[in-house]
Amino acid sequence: DMNKETLGFQTEARQLLQLMIHSLYSNKEIFLRELISNASDAVDKLRFAALSDDALLEGDGEYAVRVDVDTDAGTVTISDNGIGMSRDEVIDNLGTIAKSGTAAFLEQLSGDQQKDSQLIGQFGVGFYSSFIVADRVAVHTRKAGVPASEGVLWESRGEAEFTIEAQDKAERGTSITLFLREDSKDFADDWRVRSVIKKYSDHISVPVLMKETPPPAAETAEEENAEPAEPEYKSVNEATALWTRSRSEVTDEEYGEFYKHVSHDFEDPLSWSHNRVEGKLEYTSLLYIPARAPFDMWNRDANLGVKLYVQRTFIMDDAEQFLPMYLRFVKGVLDSNDLSLNVSREILQQDKTVDALRSALSKRVLDMLSKMAKNDAEKYATFWKEFGQVLKEGPAEDMGNKDKIAELLRFSSTHTDNEVQDQSLKDYVERMQDGQDKIFYVVAENFNTAKRSPQLEVFRKRGIEVLLLSDRVDDWLMNHLQEFDGKQLQDVARGRLDLEDENDEEKKAREEAEKDSEGLVERLKTVIADAVEEVRVTTRLTNSPACLVVGEQDMGAQMRRIMEAAGQ
Ligand code: ADP
Ligand code: MG
Repeated sequence: DMNKETLGFQTEARQLLQLMIHSLYSNKEIFLRELISNASDAVDKLRFAALSDDALLEGDGEYAVRVDVDTDAGTVTISDNGIGMSRDEVIDNLGTIAKSGTAAFLEQLSGDQQKDSQLIGQFGVGFYSSFIVADRVAVHTRKAGVPASEGVLWESRGEAEFTIEAQDKAERGTSITLFLREDSKDFADDWRVRSVIKKYSDHISVPVLMKETPPPAAETAEEENAEPAEPEYKSVNEATALWTRSRSEVTDEEYGEFYKHVSHDFEDPLSWSHNRVEGKLEYTSLLYIPARAPFDMWNRDANLGVKLYVQRTFIMDDAEQFLPMYLRFVKGVLDSNDLSLNVSREILQQDKTVDALRSALSKRVLDMLSKMAKNDAEKYATFWKEFGQVLKEGPAEDMGNKDKIAELLRFSSTHTDNEVQDQSLKDYVERMQDGQDKIFYVVAENFNTAKRSPQLEVFRKRGIEVLLLSDRVDDWLMNHLQEFDGKQLQDVARGRLDLEDENDEEKKAREEAEKDSEGLVERLKTVIADAVEEVRVTTRLTNSPACLVVGEQDMGAQMRRIMEAAGQ
């Protein structure tokens, strides 16, 4: 065949494909969720493109996904009349993985099925899940608005390569046929497929249709030789956008499934907040906190933000303008009545409504987190472990919500001397000693260095609690936070320490020590003059002979390291 070409999968794609087949074996049925999710995305994309060019609809505005089961042939076919793909798009979308950081991600995989399946879940399962149940997959597709002759057939056995050839396709959109493996033939069963669709795809707003044979009409039922009725396609799912339903009508399972659809995550979310707002701003938001950080949370070009709808019409994925960076882990949907249907990313950057929406959504997320912290400590601990470092960027980015964010922060402290960050500033303040008016902290490269810091000796001796900070972002956080509940945050390694409760006796002892050491201090000053600004006697040490401190106005040690690493 002249027009048939064989191409290799990109290395990462091939690896991911193999790993997926092996590690998600006990979770086979999710392939249907993934393929229907893609079909629904394709319909959303066409709906949006047709807003400005309705010729793309080719006269057919009835969007649907069809699922056909052929028990004899052992196949399942999922067809949509969405946007479709061109030849180049098929090669790119199904043959490569565009996400940056993929290679690094793959290196983390261990071969342990349980661990790997979780990691792959974080990565997103997607189209390749077809190969969990199929040993051959055929994708026949045609882009909306182009002639039937531009149809493309992609086929693969899920090994190293795939073929691609031209094949006419009269209807726009994509049709995916799975040739089921011997051990997965149970999916070539009408009832089985129906129940899986019901379970996973009720919330999908486009109808998912399957063939049904209608019962014979009553008056003909008794006639001999009645013609059997023709099967008709009927909707299996509810097909109303989930966020448009009222909270009381949506079950936790449905919220969970919808989350997986919008986030491309594999696990259930940790928490969500669903709100309809009327008045000056009119919008519905459904925001989720994932249970686990995505593998690319620290990548600059990771997908951020919410799925944006305007009056129930899908507009774009990853609309990052509606949430600040420090809440970049939030996933979900925003459906606005105030934005125009032809809004673009450029327009969003200037629209005043966007600022109002961003601050409204930020409040929603912070409130959701406050509630979680108050009502479910265990959940909040999970949240903090996954996303605490990101939330710590908050006080610098969002001054308006500084106090709210401060209440959500958790730290290690000398109170527990434990690496787990589980102490709030409020806890600290409640434990402050009489006369103590500052919140003390130490910053070091890692927890153990912080815990063993010589600066802490005097605090430990006096029973004064010190927060033990060692995340990269901590200096940055403290510089912007400055105070909590009217109490100044004080780095114990900075400038002079005025521990208020020095009594007369201690004062006398200190003055004597200063006098005794005058000669030594002078000598030190001349010997290490290039290295330090000042040498002075201190009472802050009990066991160590000396320590280094940073001037009140100088950069913190950690900031300095970051600047040095950046070549400054
Ligand atoms: P994701 O959905 O997370 O992007 P997938 O592996 O599920 O990843 O799909 C990869 C890409 O293939 C999609 O982003 C989309 O561009 C394309 N694609 C998959 N299924 C369809 C479809 N039914 N119609 C059009 N494009 C599709
Ligand atoms: Mg997908």
